Amino acid sequence: MRIRAAVLEEFGKPLVIDEVDLVEPEAGEVLVRLASCGVCHTDAYTASGVDPTGYAPCVLGHEGAGVVERVGDGVTMVRPGDHVVTLFAPECGECIHCRSSRTNRCIAIRDPQNAGYLPDGTTRLFRGGEPLRHFMGCSTFAEYTVMPQIALAVVNPEAPLDGCAPFACGLATGIGAALYTAQVQPGATAAVFGCGLVGLGAVIGARLAGAERIIALDLSEERLAEARRHGATDTRVADADTVAWIREQTGGYGADYTFEATGNVKVMGQAVEAAREAWGLATMCGVAGRGEQLEIIPRFLITGRRVTGSSFGGVKGRTQLPGLVDRWLAGEFDAMALVSHRLTLDQVNEGFELMEAQNGIRSVIQFS
Ligand SMILES: [Zn+2]
Ligand SMILES: [Zn+2]
Repeated sequence: MRIRAAVLEEFGKPLVIDEVDLVEPEAGEVLVRLASCGVCHTDAYTASGVDPTGYAPCVLGHEGAGVVERVGDGVTMVRPGDHVVTLFAPECGECIHCRSSRTNRCIAIRDPQNAGYLPDGTTRLFRGGEPLRHFMGCSTFAEYTVMPQIALAVVNPEAPLDGCAPFACGLATGIGAALYTAQVQPGATAAVFGCGLVGLGAVIGARLAGAERIIALDLSEERLAEARRHGATDTRVADADTVAWIREQTGGYGADYTFEATGNVKVMGQAVEAAREAWGLATMCGVAGRGEQLEIIPRFLITGRRVTGSSFGGVKGRTQLPGLVDRWLAGEFDAMALVSHRLTLDQVNEGFELMEAQNGIRSVIQFS
């Protein structure tokens, strides 16, 4: 079928909206009609060409929500008509990581996915007969996509799909970091560095986990106000004194849990330092540039601080993400408030500009 999609033609240049061909799903694959797709930093990072593992041409986008249109042979996990959230972090349910409750790092299709291919090493996307690679196994800046069934989470059809899109990356990353990776305990104090979508997700997750105090830090007053709306109890414009201030606020010790959601390695250092001596846990959620290093003073670790990282919030996509959507529908948090701009596919580059300008929380492309 002929579809419209946003193609990364050349690094450092705006995406090009073009007509491309999408062929039918093979065995184990699913054709999804996209309804919405969030515009995420990772799309912009790849488009910039700074990421040495990026590839072009490809169809970008990885924060999609839509409806199953058709399925290939042997598909048992989804049915036509199901509402789905796309998973750049799949869940096969069978690999060594999927069988462990400790991680969401499914390895079933990692190599072909990283190289821009579906699990059999080929593409379903073509233009002028030439293959176009898939981005993060998703390629959701498009009217339709073909994905493996293990990379789709079936969600409650009552959930508006524009509100579902942020669950496909940023929102689940933040909520999951607090609930699944750090496993914030009731009554605890959490500090969240950066109040974009991931950081606000961590604020929400810490609140859902029963944290008593949630300290949010950002450079923007507007975002701090947003953080208070989602459950932050204390906010402060971040500066060089941030760590000392957090210590002051916490009896001189630091927070039980800290979350880094900016991707800046200096801020990551602050998140480590602001974690409480003895048992503080610092969770890195932001994505630093490839090759960047985080410096940690070893004494911080010897005295009991722990440092971990969280990819997609440690959320097992097919089995745990639908429950997060249900909690939204139950009114436990407001996912819709995080969608700040609605754009058409033709406006995708505007989505990058809004993100660059930190205008709003999440731009979501609407396909219908
Ligand atoms: Zn993302
Ligand atoms: Zn797996």
